[in-house]
Amino acid sequence: MTDDRTSEQASESPQASNFIRQIIDADVAAGKNGGKVVTRFPPEPNGYLHIGHAKSICLNFGIARDYDGAVCHLRFDDTNPTKEDLEFVEAIKTDVAWLGFDWQQNLFHSSDYFEQIYQFAIKLIELGKAYVCDLSAEEVREYRGTLTEPGRNSPWRDRSVEENLDLLERMRSGEFADGSRLLRAKIDMASPNINMRDPALYRVKHATHPITGDAWCIYPMYDFSHCLSDAIEGVTHSLCTLEFEDHRPLYDWVLDTLNTEHHPQQIEFSRLNLDYTVMSKRKLQTLVAEQKVSGWDDPRMPTISGLRRRGYTAAAIREFCQRIGVTRHDNVIEMGVLESCIREDLEAAPRVLGVINPLKLLITNYPAEQVEYLTAQNHPQYPEMGSRELPFSGELWVERDDFMEEPPKKFFRLGPGREVRLRYGYYITCTDVIKDADGEITEIHCTYDPATRGGSSPDGRKVKGTIHWVSVAHAVDAEVRLYDRLFSEPNPAAAGDDFLQLLNPDSLQVMANAKLEPSLAGAEAGTRYQFERLGYFCVDGEADGQAVFNRTVTLRDSWAKIKR
Ligand code: ATP
Ligand code: MG
Repeated sequence: MTDDRTSEQASESPQASNFIRQIIDADVAAGKNGGKVVTRFPPEPNGYLHIGHAKSICLNFGIARDYDGAVCHLRFDDTNPTKEDLEFVEAIKTDVAWLGFDWQQNLFHSSDYFEQIYQFAIKLIELGKAYVCDLSAEEVREYRGTLTEPGRNSPWRDRSVEENLDLLERMRSGEFADGSRLLRAKIDMASPNINMRDPALYRVKHATHPITGDAWCIYPMYDFSHCLSDAIEGVTHSLCTLEFEDHRPLYDWVLDTLNTEHHPQQIEFSRLNLDYTVMSKRKLQTLVAEQKVSGWDDPRMPTISGLRRRGYTAAAIREFCQRIGVTRHDNVIEMGVLESCIREDLEAAPRVLGVINPLKLLITNYPAEQVEYLTAQNHPQYPEMGSRELPFSGELWVERDDFMEEPPKKFFRLGPGREVRLRYGYYITCTDVIKDADGEITEIHCTYDPATRGGSSPDGRKVKGTIHWVSVAHAVDAEVRLYDRLFSEPNPAAAGDDFLQLLNPDSLQVMANAKLEPSLAGAEAGTRYQFERLGYFCVDGEADGQAVFNRTVTLRDSWAKIKR
């Protein structure tokens, strides 16, 4: 099943409103910004996108989609050349497009504006609102004061406009070493908001930029470049997460002082946090660098690329973002919310039979060499999805977990002397258990009742259990990967840099000898199925040759509860 088909079948909830949309509604009604709405999604290309970014993408691009004439820009916030990489730029573009959003011609980089931002810096100096400061990083920190103590003015604060202009130009031309000088805003060293205590605007950094190369050896700070990039692009509503609330006065100060043509309105909302995982790019980067996962797209990662490889659909992720909503309250969302979104979307996936932990079952009274074909529905609720013929023989693979030598009372599957139904097939009764020298069960023997073809008995005899199976001679060999939470603790980020110690050692279980029904031979990467009774699975995109299936999510399984 292709992604497109799932997305089409998904009935996405009608777009819910939220406090930001209400603000925009009012602005549009009042004719603010000439009735225009321009948002942007501004990732720093220093890692792959995660599900938290999806929240911001759905919010910003969702507004562009839903308001008449509105647009959303994709802007790479590439002002920190040492951490950024074009690999990340490409991955981010892929993920945004895969999520179903289109930036059209509005693809930008903060580095597109380096010259304009520099000219704004000159203007601030000319206005007497910025100065070059020679304090060392440590001195700057010392002079800054604390939350309870005001800061002190830098001894370089009163340099003349001419001297500042000269020094900034020499900073740009490469005369000074990294860290030796800063351009700072001249605001208020006694402000209760530390962000307003003469924040740095430019620093010297002799580093090659992925796009501008060696054209620059000074780079604007985030707080300076971000608001100016928004203003240059004519963004109307600059939506960001709550940690930037304290930066808003600086954002407004820069734009007011420079009297820019556009003055975007910054509105903050709460970050998405998910339990049992981490969401900061730095921590995700550590997982990759320390090889705790196979890469940014490891199916256990909360990245968009990891979720995609795991089998998540874009529709399910959009639905998740819808359900969690947009507020100003910080909270932690349970992984179960994300899982129920993908379960609902995959409900319509075709159903197939696959055995992930095989045990051989011989039907001793089935004619040797005989093969017959049993009709199986591709989806019991959707007859329009058709049916297929499953080869059946006297030698089958069944799930090891579906047999117990001494079954407890509520175990309705196979055990010595018990009768169960083979899905789409016959009733069988277990007659013998074969073991090897170590006492390990190697094979079970059964008899079948030929009168029960199709799964019911003419004499009205009922069985409580139905198990899945695959004919040995017809089975497709596959590797099946089962995933669990990446961390054993709900809030691994709370452990700070020790978070790696909270990794769940059993987050990946590789079932190397899975046996699948023959219709799965050559299944294309990305195709999704329900393996009956086992969960939803997706063909892995990275495995060449061998068929590899990733379990996206389990079914709600009553067995799991009973077993515990
Ligand atoms: P991280 O802490 O993971 O490095 P970041 O905020 O530094 O994230 P950016 O690339 O700067 O990452 O983020 C781009 C946009 O995505 C920003 O507008 C940011 O507010 C938003 N964003 C990042 N993480 C989340 C999250 N967990 N929930 C909602 N929005 C987020
Ligand atoms: Mg960042």
